[in-house]
Amino acid sequence: MPGYEPFLLCDFHVHTQWSDGRLTLREVIDLYGRTGRFDVIAITDHILMKRDLLARAGRIATLGQRAFGVREDAFDDYLAEIQDEAARARREYDMLVIPGAEVTQNRIRSKRNAHIIALDIKEYISADQSPNAVLAEIRRQGAVSIACHPHHRTTRRIEISTCYLWDHRKELSDLVDVWEAANRDDLFSVTSLKHFPYVASSDFHKPKHLYSWKTLLRCDKTWPAVRRALIENVDVALTLFRADAWKAATEPEPARQVRRSGRAGGRAAAASAALGSALVRWTRAT
Ligand code: ZN
Ligand code: ZN
Repeated sequence: MPGYEPFLLCDFHVHTQWSDGRLTLREVIDLYGRTGRFDVIAITDHILMKRDLLARAGRIATLGQRAFGVREDAFDDYLAEIQDEAARARREYDMLVIPGAEVTQNRIRSKRNAHIIALDIKEYISADQSPNAVLAEIRRQGAVSIACHPHHRTTRRIEISTCYLWDHRKELSDLVDVWEAANRDDLFSVTSLKHFPYVASSDFHKPKHLYSWKTLLRCDKTWPAVRRALIENVDVALTLFRADAWKAATEPEPARQVRRSGRAGGRAAAASAALGSALVRWTRAT
């Protein structure tokens, strides 16, 4: 679409073995990088409450081999590894990697749970405080908050619902920077989100989650530009990243044609291909 390139293909919700993801951080970077399609991803491993029941059950089941969340005493190591991998991702794949965390509250049958991503997090944020306090701390750090799967409501007995932020959206709208309008395979009501900035993310835990909802942003590939684009939320598109679409785009013949037209042309072609199958909504600056 002339005048609307370049688009960046982004995924702002990705887990690794630092919490409950299947792959190591390095494997995640290589998986996204080797598609040749992604411009921006955020690593957002869980920070859990001290008494997280699911994590405790998981630790018992795995005989203490896995932690399911980034502990406070390991947080600096976590950020350092992301920084190293981000430098490699930029070098090898021209991909921007943002350090983040998902501050996670898993109380069974509670109306006070929220999962909140902090993008560009600088310091550990405890999950053992109110969602409002978590949001205030994210703001204090100059990070960007994303309300994760804010519509997820308990339907079964032992299930976690995470709708505290959505249920309190009127009071909290100034503190929540962006709302997740789509998470992996689920699309939440975009109509009800029309007054709020939004993104779509994979909530990646294992390779098949690569094929899921993603965000397209129109801005430069730097964190300050991405940050502004997220918050202003002007040209944002939700797109389904599908296995077949990706394979078709990387088949030798079409791929060569795209490549021949140069980097900018290739990006524009990729963006318009994505637009063809995407649910796109243009928002206007207010
Ligand atoms: Zn979550
Ligand atoms: Zn998650």
